[in-house]
Amino acid sequence: MAYWLVMPAAGSGQRFGSGIPKQYAPLAGRTVIEHSLAPFLSDAGCRGIVVAIASADDRWGSISGSLPHVAAVTGGAERSRSVRNGLAALAERAAADDWVAVHDAARPCLTPMLRDKLLSAAMTHPVGALLAVRVADTLKREADGVVESTIDRSHLWAAQTPQVFRYRDLCQALDSAFAAGRAPTDEAQAIEWIGRRPLLVEGSVDNLKITSVVQLRLAEAILAGAAACG
Ligand code: C5P
Repeated sequence: MAYWLVMPAAGSGQRFGSGIPKQYAPLAGRTVIEHSLAPFLSDAGCRGIVVAIASADDRWGSISGSLPHVAAVTGGAERSRSVRNGLAALAERAAADDWVAVHDAARPCLTPMLRDKLLSAAMTHPVGALLAVRVADTLKREADGVVESTIDRSHLWAAQTPQVFRYRDLCQALDSAFAAGRAPTDEAQAIEWIGRRPLLVEGSVDNLKITSVVQLRLAEAILAGAAACG
């Protein structure tokens, strides 16, 4: 299952007391981003990795020495721009039909099993696929601070990463979104906007995104549990 990885890591992110962007927060002896990269560094199918970092990033250099096969590019003002810059860095190496996985630097608990489940589903689908989990809470639409309605959640999923699409499709989808003045919040949205329907692959709530110190503590517990299970 050959593919490329683009990892957006250019967010200023939530800060954790000492002024560390979330992707560089310490987590179980490493940084968050090192955990997020780990399932791809260990995968023979991953042909190359590009990480998009902020122009003012002064922390990547302290870990990049131990990641000789990972290229870095400067990210953009929005996540989608960071992803597009990462894709541009692959232009000489990736073929139009090659698969590209995009995975947030702030998702440190992806397991190799979920990675492979997603990749094999995506690569046998005409469009591509993303990890997602069914929405568990009852959802309310608000208007002026009060409940306007309750939304039927039976068909609602919360999107995660990785998201896997063909190189040409993803470049075209993002470029057409930008041309229309739109910034998709994930790759699947850009693909949807060009009229395609990505496959939903059931992920896990363990594949959480770090948004605050609460998820950081949860991630510690998840990684400790995974280590204990071998
Ligand atoms: O802000 P959010 O949590 O949605 O960010 C998801 C991922 O996108 C993070 O890994 C973050 O570093 C990255 N990002 C980026 N460029 C931006 C904003 C976010 O690469 N301009």
